[in-house]
Amino acid sequence: MSETLARDVVAVLERMFAGTARPVALHEPEFRGRERDYVQDCIDSGWVSTVGRYVDRFEEAVAAACGARHAVAVVNGTAALHVCLMLAGVRPGDEVLVPALTFVATANSIAHAGAVPHFVDSEASSLGVDAAALATWLADIAEPTADGCRNRLTGRRIAALVVVHVFGHPVEMNALAELADRYGLPLIEDAAESLGSLYHGRRCGGLARLAATSFNGNKIVTCGGGGAVLTADAELARAARHLTTTAKLPHPWAFRHDRVAWNYRLPNLNAALGLAQLERLDDMVRRKRDLARAYADAFAALPGVAVLLERPGTTGNYWLNTLLLAPDQAPARDAVLSAAHAAGFLCRPAWDLLHHQPMYADGPRMPLDSVERLAPRILNLPSSPHLAEDARA
Ligand SMILES: *Cc1c(COP(=O)(O)O)cnc(C)c1O
Repeated sequence: MSETLARDVVAVLERMFAGTARPVALHEPEFRGRERDYVQDCIDSGWVSTVGRYVDRFEEAVAAACGARHAVAVVNGTAALHVCLMLAGVRPGDEVLVPALTFVATANSIAHAGAVPHFVDSEASSLGVDAAALATWLADIAEPTADGCRNRLTGRRIAALVVVHVFGHPVEMNALAELADRYGLPLIEDAAESLGSLYHGRRCGGLARLAATSFNGNKIVTCGGGGAVLTADAELARAARHLTTTAKLPHPWAFRHDRVAWNYRLPNLNAALGLAQLERLDDMVRRKRDLARAYADAFAALPGVAVLLERPGTTGNYWLNTLLLAPDQAPARDAVLSAAHAAGFLCRPAWDLLHHQPMYADGPRMPLDSVERLAPRILNLPSSPHLAEDARA
């Protein structure tokens, strides 16, 4: 049975991409804009490092892309998350609620802040945190305190909720924000995968008081490596800049620093590349949405699989297209992956759930039944924007 599904999925891909060179990568960066000009300009001017006008221009462009008032550019998305957690008041020994279904960096940033990831369940329509299930769990275990709430099972303070727009699908933000408010929890958006996605007309990365995004090479647009902290709050933005620039006090020559801090600022060279990429964000999202539609059409006739589409009220960037296997087809996933790789289509499974990773295996968690059933059904399809030009229905 799994061989049949594997053969059928590969046949669909081969039909869609008959003219495309193999292997077809999962997601490739694309440089069709002014990338060369801007990077060359940095080299010619000598401004290659952590100060320069491309950093300023890049921050303005990122803020606009996320509908946030302020963006502070940093070296990567993990650092951006780390800064968000510190600004949210997360302290060593706290717990932070985070989905088990996300890239490991989301949980690592919590550990880097000295806190403990507390894993929560996700639901199938958005692949994001299940607000109703989390509400039930918090009603069981959370007791209100003067500064938020405490986990009565572990005695630790619960200090924040981090949500992730998985593969670019916006989470059910209204319900999650209401829940976070009810428990006095700062809400942090991990928007690493959702640049250009909309939730009820508002841009992901601008939906919470604090958000982080990433410009790694595999993301929707790239700086080579990079990230940003996003906020509407000028004071938080100022604090983010200070924390990420060794907490140096402004002075024409003196080296005075008022706390132990980080060198997390993005070099001008990376900002130059990223600015040219952001100028083409809308075009890339448009083509990625075309590709999603082509996948949905091409797989429509194949029983046992469905392409995950955006929910009403949301507009996805389709960072990674997702083929969801029917529950009874989950055992066929690895056969599908191996047939796809053999044919030159570099599909991927979802990440191993974080509570299955050795460093987080003993961590606190709610019942994770939904995501345990969901994750083995997920298969990501090649999603580079240029594939929209090749795809045949
Ligand atoms: C990529 C990613 C990150 C980390 O970003 P880096 O720039 O690689 O550090 C964090 N969270 C999610 C959901 C990601 O996909």
